[in-house]
Amino acid sequence: MIEYNKIYIDGQWVAPSGEGHSTLINPATEEAFATVPYSHIEDVDKAARAARRAFPAWSRTSSKEREEIILAICAKLTERKDELASLISQEMGIPYHFARGIQVGGPIQGLSIFAELAKTMDDVRKEDGFSVYKEPIGVCSFITPWNFPLFQVIAKVGPALAAGCTTLLKPSEQTPLSCFVFAEVCDEVGLPAGVFNLLPGKGSMIGDACSSHPEVDLVSFTGSTGVGVGVAKLAAESVKRVCQELGGKSPFIVAEDANVAKAIKYVIKDSMFNSGQMCIQLSRILVHESQYEEAVEVAKTVTESLVVGDPADKGTFLGPLSSMRARESVVRYIEKGIAEGARLVTGGPELPEGITKGAYVKPTIFADVTNDMAIAQEEIFGPVLCLIKYKTEDEAIAIANDTEFGLSSGLWAEDADTQMRIARQLRAGQVKVNGPAFSFAAPFGGYKQSGNGREWGASGLVEYTEEKAIMIGS
Ligand code: NAD
Repeated sequence: MIEYNKIYIDGQWVAPSGEGHSTLINPATEEAFATVPYSHIEDVDKAARAARRAFPAWSRTSSKEREEIILAICAKLTERKDELASLISQEMGIPYHFARGIQVGGPIQGLSIFAELAKTMDDVRKEDGFSVYKEPIGVCSFITPWNFPLFQVIAKVGPALAAGCTTLLKPSEQTPLSCFVFAEVCDEVGLPAGVFNLLPGKGSMIGDACSSHPEVDLVSFTGSTGVGVGVAKLAAESVKRVCQELGGKSPFIVAEDANVAKAIKYVIKDSMFNSGQMCIQLSRILVHESQYEEAVEVAKTVTESLVVGDPADKGTFLGPLSSMRARESVVRYIEKGIAEGARLVTGGPELPEGITKGAYVKPTIFADVTNDMAIAQEEIFGPVLCLIKYKTEDEAIAIANDTEFGLSSGLWAEDADTQMRIARQLRAGQVKVNGPAFSFAAPFGGYKQSGNGREWGASGLVEYTEEKAIMIGS
């Protein structure tokens, strides 16, 4: 059993101000494997004040110092890659081999990009009569979800440190363990006291305090749209900058000229990754009527070839969902899809064959879905995909944009003009054309109710920056 009983405030591991802890359950075995203390409102206050005290000195460090310390964090995280991957795999069920590469290696790469970008804070824009300087915004409060535990943390802490901001982090109560390692690493590399503070705990207990504390200048939230709206309302009372990375229901258009087999093979694997628990999941697959039945067949074959099972096995593609509660919610959507009249091509609400316990779900494909069905409009957050038929390109684009979300999108088309024509009309923060890899340098964020602001790369750093214009009279 892994047991933590301290939280990290002002450069010290300290006992929280009150009682209580969360017990983490491995969703593959349904067994408890770790306990983590709850932080309390008094702890948020201590952390915010520590971050405020640390801000003047940290914000005046040179960009070179910040670059070096961020690179030192990268090096220590790299040394602990296996441990981090194992913790994340146990917390939320992702196969270990995927956790090591994408949940750990990926964000370390993203963090090293922020180290490199620290020097851009020194850029000065000289205009006629004034100069524009970049300065860090101040104390930043972060609230993160469980589906990419370290990834979402580094997307926020990385640019904040590069800019010269100080931080407090409330990770998801389901997946805090990699954040304890992150705090240990910050401590080891000599990050000054108060620059990073860790507040494990429940959103219902400390979420309001993290969103509204008077010493906080910026709140960055990643999670569900409903909670994100509540966070923004509280932050608005003291005019904090708010960044929101929220839900999605992203479309994938297979253009009429596409190689449908290649396109469907790509999108099924991409969207079933992490057992489909991704805000950027391409969950609505739009196929021209002339290729639709072929797409259904390929989707069935590819989905049935994906191995569901033990997250420790190298051959496993889908582990369990993150919790039994998540399983119940996804199963309800599968039942709803059947009740709504969609055609169940493969999958279904039962446990996968040969599995008797754990939060497992059969990867599921629905065909004959219309865009007004709940399974096409609501974020399912599991391995459930919808195939939707279209007749014309304009209709495909209209269906793609007929959603309250706008986080990601994708398309597959052979012709370069078709690629750009469709991509430019999709109302989403990213368009992935013909299956590119995730880029840690590209701006990431949502249109519409998928959020405000951008993460990763140079655009990510902008969120943590104030511009100051200095005019000097003659
Ligand atoms: P969630 O909204 O339930 O929780 C996210 C975080 O908010 C957790 O740390 C939780 O403890 C905290 N929280 C809960 N109640 C709170 C409150 N009242 N005040 C403040 N904080 C509170 O989301 P989740 O279930 O952890 O994650 C899944 C959701 O996150 C999905 O909707 C998914 O699309 C979204 N997500 C978005 C992105 C993105 O970049 N856009 C990335 C990953 C996940």
